[in-house]
Amino acid sequence: MRTICIFNQKGGVGKTTTNINLCSYLANKGYKVLTIDIDPQGNTTSGLGIDKKNIELSIYDILTSETSLKETILKIELIDNLYLVPSTMELAGAEVELMSEKNREVILKKKLEDIKDEFDFIFIDCPPSLGFLTINSLTASDSVLIPIQCEFYALEGVGQLVSTIQLVKKSLNKNLEVEGILMSMFDGRTKLSNEVVDEVKKYFKDKVYKATIPRNIRLAEAPSFGLPIILYDDKCKGAKAYEDLTEEFLNNQ
Ligand code: ATP
Ligand code: MG
Repeated sequence: MRTICIFNQKGGVGKTTTNINLCSYLANKGYKVLTIDIDPQGNTTSGLGIDKKNIELSIYDILTSETSLKETILKIELIDNLYLVPSTMELAGAEVELMSEKNREVILKKKLEDIKDEFDFIFIDCPPSLGFLTINSLTASDSVLIPIQCEFYALEGVGQLVSTIQLVKKSLNKNLEVEGILMSMFDGRTKLSNEVVDEVKKYFKDKVYKATIPRNIRLAEAPSFGLPIILYDDKCKGAKAYEDLTEEFLNNQ
């Protein structure tokens, strides 16, 4: 069992898209996968077709009460072997509510201990911030997968991202590793995309996945139907890219 946190404090770089699709392909291959949505935006939750109005218990209850993970896990009916801990907007208040709580950084790690043996992989979809939710996720994880968008400002903020990981390693989770760096919204025809990849490789060396995710309209459309790409259009370029990523991810295990 391995817990992987998908993290980049920058918004809109492809964290949730990667989370939904990597989890779906792994589950489709027969691995038992749990994804934890720890973003108040709840994009993984809605992207997997869950209606937020019907959620009774969520990651908010995990972090702020005695609720166990088992009580919150939903089975994703569309895809065998895929399970979700959902998120709702309520989560936005959790940090303030827990302001004076001792050991609040390790709540998720502790709760994960009960269910670790039940899954092959657990993926945590982080919000775009460096706050309490992200620290809980990094502390609970074996490794961190970082999507980076191929754009001019791609490396801006990477220093801060790396120092956050170092800080968590030093104080809360000494075994935390970098799982891999994923270049998203890649366009091989442009000089910029290729330059950004070269820059990122200088920084992260062989941690950068060979698979890159192209800008693909089908990937952007799928969540509005509550479907992962494997069910929305498994022949499109974006689907192929996430399939390749899944292979590479598994080869690295
Ligand atoms: P946030 O930081 O807000 O959580 P995020 O890092 O999770 O964002 P996504 O939600 O995955 O990023 O992607 C941001 C937007 O870009 C979404 O509308 C998504 O559908 C779209 N998108 C993501 N990846 C691609 C892609 N490869 N091609 C085209 N659109 C994409
Ligand atoms: Mg997201």
